[in-house]
Amino acid sequence: MYDPKSLKASEFISHQEVLDTLEYASENRRNAELIDSIIQKARQRRGLSHREAAVLLDCELEDRNQEIYALAEQIKKDFYGNRIVLFAPLYLSNYCVNGCVYCPYHYKNKNITRKKMTQEEIRREVTALQDMGHKRLAIEAGEDPVNNPIEYILESIDTIYSIKHKNGAIRRVNVNIAATTVEDYRKLKDAGIGTYILFQETYHKESYERLHPTGPKHDYAFHTEAMDRAMQAGIDDVGLGVLFGLELYRYEFAALLMHAEHLEAVYGVGPHTISVPRIKPAEGIDPSKFDNGIDDDTFAKIVACIRISVPYTGIIVSTRESKECRERLLHLGVSQISGASRTSVGGYCEPEEEDQNSEQFDVSDRRTLDEVVRWLIELGYIPSFCTACYREGRTGDRFMSLCKSGQILNCCHPNALMTLMEYLEDYASAETRAVGEMLIKKELNNIPNEKVREIAIKNIDSIRKGSRDFRF
Ligand code: SAM
Repeated sequence: MYDPKSLKASEFISHQEVLDTLEYASENRRNAELIDSIIQKARQRRGLSHREAAVLLDCELEDRNQEIYALAEQIKKDFYGNRIVLFAPLYLSNYCVNGCVYCPYHYKNKNITRKKMTQEEIRREVTALQDMGHKRLAIEAGEDPVNNPIEYILESIDTIYSIKHKNGAIRRVNVNIAATTVEDYRKLKDAGIGTYILFQETYHKESYERLHPTGPKHDYAFHTEAMDRAMQAGIDDVGLGVLFGLELYRYEFAALLMHAEHLEAVYGVGPHTISVPRIKPAEGIDPSKFDNGIDDDTFAKIVACIRISVPYTGIIVSTRESKECRERLLHLGVSQISGASRTSVGGYCEPEEEDQNSEQFDVSDRRTLDEVVRWLIELGYIPSFCTACYREGRTGDRFMSLCKSGQILNCCHPNALMTLMEYLEDYASAETRAVGEMLIKKELNNIPNEKVREIAIKNIDSIRKGSRDFRF
């Protein structure tokens, strides 16, 4: 039985409801009248139900698809402006007791070097990340109660926040670790994490159990209900995601939106972010062995449909994707990207030797952060290192209300400009600095509130003179 308010995975992600949704979408994929009415509803920018969104994803009418892309781009502009938030992953440990068949960390893999960073090594990695200009990290670890217990994760978070190297600081630590208990989520909340991110991998229970044959992650309900426990523990910024390629993308898409609806129905706040990873080659992992890989066009359609279905949710795309692919997705709704990522444990200080192989997956976009920042600026985006919302307590529904109130241009926009100025002062190459300065000058004029504009101009001036960390 389908019930978005239920706390049981089998009821809020009802398999039958997903199948019925897919059938409804397929029957209506050329139904111009229905498709038009759904696009019309999406134009009101209050989102779509999973059924409506599934119809648009399946839509075979080319002119309507173009409308969907244009609307996704417009909604992105309306809610997020032209800011793109930057972050980097930090791999703490690749010890793992699970048997996930798509992941090189699976415990049977004897061909990767197992590493767990000491606090001293974390200090060195974070210093290297600060020296690039990063302010926001996502920490990643395999699941291993002995090697990576929650105490290790908490100590690492403390270490990360404590490092102040030159003008650097990590101001927001997002956490991507395995599903855990309410008690552990409470500890993460108390440690001051930003978003708790957990990819569902696949919502299809039978496939999930086959793809996670052994280890604690095998438990579909425990994994799928993780965000409920995180919310109950007071973490109100949670990040969803599926690993595209494992199951039929239509199934994942409908279920992902059902998950978002469930969070909204029970906790009054949807997911803070949705990530859209695709399976990549890794040690012993060949993506072509998975039957459900999606091409770039399908991927773009998925991102556009997510954008218009959950307008207030950030969309994250990592360096798993190439520069070209990321560029296309930026237009369609992506609001956060990683830059200069290393997916090996300790990889920022010591790039890996061929035979070490502790990487989680191959990275497609290998540019430096400076190159990524310049590229964004040249495309007309504002690279943002802002972490203000979470530090000002604007999490969960308070962040959503900021989005809904249309105050982003008076708040997030100047914050993005001020943090970009910090980046230009402290880390940018001369070329990036030149284009960045021009962008800031131009974008300051786009702050509607005169008072806010004046303060932003004053703060940017102070940043030039050496002050740091201003925020609205
Ligand atoms: N161990 C944690 C868990 O159980 O959720 C999460 C951390 S894991 C380091 C981060 C994510 O990388 C996984 O959730 C998975 O979706 C993704 N991943 C694993 N293998 C991958 C591959 N071959 N290509 C792309 N992404 C992969």
